[in-house]
Amino acid sequence: MPRPTPLVVLYDVPDPSTLTPGQRSGADCVWCQHPLRPHEGIDLGGTGDWWPCGCVPCCTLQSRALATYIDWYDHGIGCLYCPLRPCDRARALHQAHLDARQHAGKPDPTCLACRTVIAPGTPIRPHLWQAANGGGPVFSFLHTRTCPSERVP
Ligand SMILES: [Zn+2]
Ligand SMILES: [Zn+2]
Ligand SMILES: [Zn+2]
Repeated sequence: MPRPTPLVVLYDVPDPSTLTPGQRSGADCVWCQHPLRPHEGIDLGGTGDWWPCGCVPCCTLQSRALATYIDWYDHGIGCLYCPLRPCDRARALHQAHLDARQHAGKPDPTCLACRTVIAPGTPIRPHLWQAANGGGPVFSFLHTRTCPSERVP
């Protein structure tokens, strides 16, 4: 399915508490702090004082990070092999997402269950869920098998 570009959803912008007032009001790009002229930034959708906007290069990189996540997630839903261990296709999609994340300046993925930063090369799977209270989709990750920090009793 072709995806609209740029595909950036409000849920994937940085935490407002980490942003400057200019970034929160849409005067500056939420990712690189580039000052935006009127109509220059891409409106990421907000309400009231919270009106995040991004410059075109940042939105393109962020969109790619999100699109590669969704491709990877979509694959996992339909694949018969991935529940047992990630198949070749899943590994390629995983790598494409990691590359896109790196270009977008996103931190290394963290496992939702054990809260540790996932070491490169560790099998993980995308875990997309809806936050409570209308918080929207959360693009998270889980170790494919048991979490390494989990101790067997
Ligand atoms: Zn920017
Ligand atoms: Zn697969
Ligand atoms: Zn884990």
